[in-house]
Amino acid sequence: MAPKPGLPEVGTPDAAALDARHGQLSALRVIELAVTELFPGAVAAVSSFGADSAVLLHLIAQVDRHLPIVFLDTGKHFEETLRYRDALADDFGLTDIRVIHPDAAALQRVDPGGRLHENDVEACCHVRKVEPMARGVEPFRAWFTGRKRHQAGTRAGLPVFEAVGPRVRINPLAQWTPADLDAYMRDHGLRENPLVAYGYLSIGCFPCTRPVVPGHDARSGRWAGQAKTECGIHLGGLEQSLSQERHHE
Ligand code: SF4
Repeated sequence: MAPKPGLPEVGTPDAAALDARHGQLSALRVIELAVTELFPGAVAAVSSFGADSAVLLHLIAQVDRHLPIVFLDTGKHFEETLRYRDALADDFGLTDIRVIHPDAAALQRVDPGGRLHENDVEACCHVRKVEPMARGVEPFRAWFTGRKRHQAGTRAGLPVFEAVGPRVRINPLAQWTPADLDAYMRDHGLRENPLVAYGYLSIGCFPCTRPVVPGHDARSGRWAGQAKTECGIHLGGLEQSLSQERHHE
């Protein structure tokens, strides 16, 4: 694939080697390293503007408040989340929030009534999240996420640097605990998503998000009562969608 205009040409990075070498650095240092040395001009962040998105975005703003921030507007977000997105961008002076929408034709084809989530959450997440995510990150060689190991059993082994095909996903907060996040939010006076006060500890689309029962892990309120625990943007479906994007170029 020919490189995108303006995208520096570099070899495919070895995510495992990056993780072994830099995985123990502080979150701020990981972000600095990625932005200034590893992927200059070719790294973004992905944010859901959910329960603890403020921490990652505050760290990023200390390094580069013009970094592209990809936000997937599924069309099913809580109004509170959309307002929180705009308020946090103002708080931190973020200048490049990239709102990615589902493909209109695909949505019309598979979810014309907007109720696909009621009978096929996998198909709904694919059209509203996975495919748009692939379009959102496709121009970049790497992107930051706010994922943490403590959030769910499925994330217990989360590395800081991980490969997604030839790209690298970076999880600077992988080893942060809920206490670390609380302390950071408090120490820096960061604005909280208003839904947290109502027990929403992991926030996604309104039809698929419930408040968390005390004592359960933070993501247990997502697709509650179903086997599903991840929307797919962090799983193999993204890599597949990215390779389909490339074939469409
Ligand atoms: S979280 Fe629910 S509403 Fe949102 S894309 Fe997935 S299935 Fe659809």
